[in-house]
Amino acid sequence: MPEQINIVFFAELNDLLPAHQRNTSFSYEIKKARSVKDLVESIGVPHTEVDLIFIDDEPVDPGYLVEGGEQIRVYPVSSNLAGRSLVHKQPKALPAPRFLLDVHLGRLVTYLRMLGFDTLYQNNYDDPTLANISANEHRTLLTCDRKLLMRKQVIHGYLVRSRKPRQQILEVLARFNLFDHRTDIARCLRCNGRILSVSKQAIQAQLLPLTKKYYDKFYQCDSCKKIYWEGSHYSKMQTLIERIKTAANQPTDPAWSGT
Ligand SMILES: [Zn+2]
Repeated sequence: MPEQINIVFFAELNDLLPAHQRNTSFSYEIKKARSVKDLVESIGVPHTEVDLIFIDDEPVDPGYLVEGGEQIRVYPVSSNLAGRSLVHKQPKALPAPRFLLDVHLGRLVTYLRMLGFDTLYQNNYDDPTLANISANEHRTLLTCDRKLLMRKQVIHGYLVRSRKPRQQILEVLARFNLFDHRTDIARCLRCNGRILSVSKQAIQAQLLPLTKKYYDKFYQCDSCKKIYWEGSHYSKMQTLIERIKTAANQPTDPAWSGT
């Protein structure tokens, strides 16, 4: 016998709902008892987005069985209830953020690596592979695909809302509270290896004549051996980092919000 529940989603979880269900309590039909986690995902909100669930004013575990007649409230990680001692669904943030991105987020990969975050990306990973790597390597999976985040193995993940890479980087830094995260090591834009200082002498045989003539300070990827130097990619990277940091304080900065 089908039963009705009443449910309301808070804050940015509303981004994931059709207009008529946003910021309002709505009724939803269930055909049989099911976990509140499955119920929330059937409405279109992946478990990686949810931090707190209340049923009839009591905080509950995601496995709580819903049978019909309940009043349900669902909160995201950002909710200001976070300080209370409640049953938080989201695991504690990983100490050193490590990311894994799906095939559609290539530009975001570049920005994250520029900021020094360990960011894994291959354009041939399918969904099961992405979910497994995320679980096995404790990497936070970033994707625009809700179904991917609904896979059981995915513990750490985030549904990227914007389709614009420059907005995406701000979204991710905000979601994981990383605006003040400092890393001394840059990541190779090509392969995610670490970029380390290297003496000119060690690599001068590989330099083009003008580069050898005009530059003295060099860096090299410890994995693919790509060479970087100040005045080229490296200074562009530094400029971009500064622009991202400025935009973080002024999200509507027209110089940044364009593409
Ligand atoms: Zn490299």
